[in-house]
Amino acid sequence: MIGTDIQRAATLLQEGKLVAIPTETVYGLAANAFDANAVSKIYMAKNRPSFNPLIIHTNSIKRLVQWGITIPEKMVQLAKHFSPGPITYVVPKSNRIPDIVTAGTDAVAVRIPNHPLTLQLLEKLDFPLAAPSANLSGYVSPTNANHVQQQFGNIIPYILDGGSCNIGVESTIVSFVHPTPTILRYGGIGIEAIQEIIGEVNDKPKENGNSIATDNPIAPGQLARHYATKHKLIHDNPLKHIHIYNLQRIGIISFTTFYPQVAKENHQILSPKGSIEEAAQKLFAAMRKLDEMDIDVILAERFPDKGVGKAINDRLKRASILE
Ligand code: AMP
Ligand code: MG
Repeated sequence: MIGTDIQRAATLLQEGKLVAIPTETVYGLAANAFDANAVSKIYMAKNRPSFNPLIIHTNSIKRLVQWGITIPEKMVQLAKHFSPGPITYVVPKSNRIPDIVTAGTDAVAVRIPNHPLTLQLLEKLDFPLAAPSANLSGYVSPTNANHVQQQFGNIIPYILDGGSCNIGVESTIVSFVHPTPTILRYGGIGIEAIQEIIGEVNDKPKENGNSIATDNPIAPGQLARHYATKHKLIHDNPLKHIHIYNLQRIGIISFTTFYPQVAKENHQILSPKGSIEEAAQKLFAAMRKLDEMDIDVILAERFPDKGVGKAINDRLKRASILE
């Protein structure tokens, strides 16, 4: 069931059940993070590999401290600027956090999401919520309640409807368990903005060629193929590939450009006015729309590679990798 009843969501979570929650990045599939049995339902529902740890969500840094988590100074600085917001911090775990949440590692990922309904919900709870994106493992993340309904409508008791996500891509992940603060995943906050606050950071996705690190079990967002459409997706200049396919059977994801060779209805132009933030907001819904069409291939442009544009390119790149 879809609705806006925060009390109902709170009660179900207190009973150890799963509830989908809106955030500004994507919708999450949430459970009581202190209840290992509840958390195990997330892995089952998503068919998520058990080595993929989960982000825990709460509404204040103070509560994290109460739960025994030590906050590094540079995280305090970042949190002042960006939390609540699309940034996740990886810090040493406390013994309140069950191993299933961290996939057996000593580090826990924490985030304060910036969505009014979910902040009210978190305020009511005396535990954090473990919540990965509310999609089947490997598929495109959901950015509205209907996306969640399509995959989990029959499995979970409640979807809290907070409208469309206004960031639209997942959080940026910064690790403080590495010797230098390290970006593990590009996301809603640009790496440039983070460097302005805490100085040099280690840009791991760049080192690994756009976030692709199959050998790193503590970072599921870094799985090579992820965010993937069912249709084949090519992340490159569409003009290089357009002539290879039947023009009627091509879908296009572009920033501002219309490709006259391809029918209008096969286009997803993410921001005609050229706003990279708007493009990020619309990316996943566009991927899902084209995936529902009877076409052979999705041709997706490369977006400007700065700010949230890095996250867009990272997701498209990983969607483009064939199994
Ligand atoms: P999702 O919530 O579906 O976007 O996936 C969770 C993301 O959190 C993954 O991309 C992981 O990289 C990250 N994550 C969660 N826990 C940890 C951790 N303990 N260490 C490093 N990364 C983590
Ligand atoms: Mg995910």
